[in-house]
Amino acid sequence: MTTGNLRLKALQLTRHYQLLPEQHFQLIPPAPLNDPYLVSMNADVAQKLGLNPDLIDRQELAEFASGQRLFTGSDPLAMKYTGHQFGTYNPQLGDGRGLLLGEHLGPDGILRDLYLKGAGKTAYSRFGDGRAVLRSSIREYLASAAMAGLGIPTTEALCIIGSTDTVLRENFPEPCATLLRVTPCHIRFGHFEYLYHSRQHDDLNKLTHYVIERYYPTLSETDNPPLALIREVIHRSAGLVARWQAYGFVHGVMNTDNMSIIGETFDYGPFQFMDSYKADQVSNHSDHQGRYAFKKQPDAMLWNLYCLAQCFMPLVSDDAKTAQSLLEEELVHFTGIYQQEYLTLMRQRLGLESDQTSSDNTNPDKTAETDRQLIEDLWRLLEVQKTDITLFFRLLSETPVSEQQHKLAGICTYPAAFELWLKQYHQRMASGDLTEEKRLTNMQRVNPVYLLRNYMAQEAIELAHQGDMSRVNELLTLLQRPFEYHPKLPQYAGPAPEWSAGICLSCSS
Ligand code: AMP
Ligand code: MG
Repeated sequence: MTTGNLRLKALQLTRHYQLLPEQHFQLIPPAPLNDPYLVSMNADVAQKLGLNPDLIDRQELAEFASGQRLFTGSDPLAMKYTGHQFGTYNPQLGDGRGLLLGEHLGPDGILRDLYLKGAGKTAYSRFGDGRAVLRSSIREYLASAAMAGLGIPTTEALCIIGSTDTVLRENFPEPCATLLRVTPCHIRFGHFEYLYHSRQHDDLNKLTHYVIERYYPTLSETDNPPLALIREVIHRSAGLVARWQAYGFVHGVMNTDNMSIIGETFDYGPFQFMDSYKADQVSNHSDHQGRYAFKKQPDAMLWNLYCLAQCFMPLVSDDAKTAQSLLEEELVHFTGIYQQEYLTLMRQRLGLESDQTSSDNTNPDKTAETDRQLIEDLWRLLEVQKTDITLFFRLLSETPVSEQQHKLAGICTYPAAFELWLKQYHQRMASGDLTEEKRLTNMQRVNPVYLLRNYMAQEAIELAHQGDMSRVNELLTLLQRPFEYHPKLPQYAGPAPEWSAGICLSCSS
């Protein structure tokens, strides 16, 4: 990565979002935090913005990212959106505690939003206090760095700012914080739902063209750009959820107001990366029905895409019947795209070569069915044996075939349970052309040593509450480069301690 040379004061923000009709946002300055201090800064994100991390003054960053000072060109605003929450349409949503400060053009030519989460009340706060707490800010900060480290599309964060201010969460005072979120896009499925359901179809059209121009410029050349847009969003969303499934990520609150129109992991609440596999894992203790359980995530994504597609009815054709059939034709592809992406990722994790050399149907993927079965059997086995996912895949990536059975004893209590599966796996691998050395190297690039386990975030939060930010910073370093060993922090390459099973994730943030 090239080193940026900018200082904070030199950052120039633009206001492209304000080209949209002004009744769809509220211009409002942040309510600054008191006594702001820097908890942590992500130097990788600073560099993407063209900043030189070494030239960033901690106090100055604390002032800019707590709302005390505004970047040049910034004219903060809260966006209006709505959305389906747990299956029910809620027209009352919007940025209740976060502000779009403006956009910044990086040295890579990418225009990114700078967004301050925890910046105070807005017109859309309802009964909320407009604040974010340090606990949830640390979780979002580390999780987004971990996602980026794994190569999974995600929003990122430049920094967390702490404060002496407190707010009540579940009847207890907690320290406030702000998080400076950085991503090209803060437009959610819910932005479209707001305009469609309030029958503002002209503005819906403007938003669509804004999204195409800014995020999908090549689509403006197609016959039906809105239809091409939904096709692309379906594609990216299927690819995203396939990545979550391949790495055991449970989002927790897959409401349509938390779904990004560019297909990034967005709005980290009561998420978790699972230590061991549980198909029914629910992340959010208030999700009593298990609507967003791990195994249901692909279906939840498709359901969300149906909500989005409905908003495209007036956009893709003047004739309702035609519009409906055009959109349904696109939605039908979701499952196939998802399955193919998921198979590709899981093959990479297992080091299995695909026999498909062309993307057309002239050379069909003959091993696909066998591989799907092998993958499914493995997850079932890992679940029954309560075996750590990350340790298991890393072991396969570091151990020659001849030693795998024996080495399993180090990470599970009953290695014999894996005998048959390993035999089938080894047989399948024998059909490939790769040398063992090459295969293991490839696998080590996709199977991390480190994952943001619940207990790691929890320990970092507890230390931060005592004023010690060192763990947040240490974990950040690991998670940014999760495929390499960090010799100074060997404990995190191991399993989660037993006490961590009791960690309960609240959606209050
Ligand atoms: P979330 O559960 O974080 O996705 O938030 C759902 C909705 O509640 C969004 O409209 C948020 O802006 C709003 N919200 C969440 N927490 C707060 C808060 N502390 N103050 C004001 N609004 C909030
Ligand atoms: Mg949200």
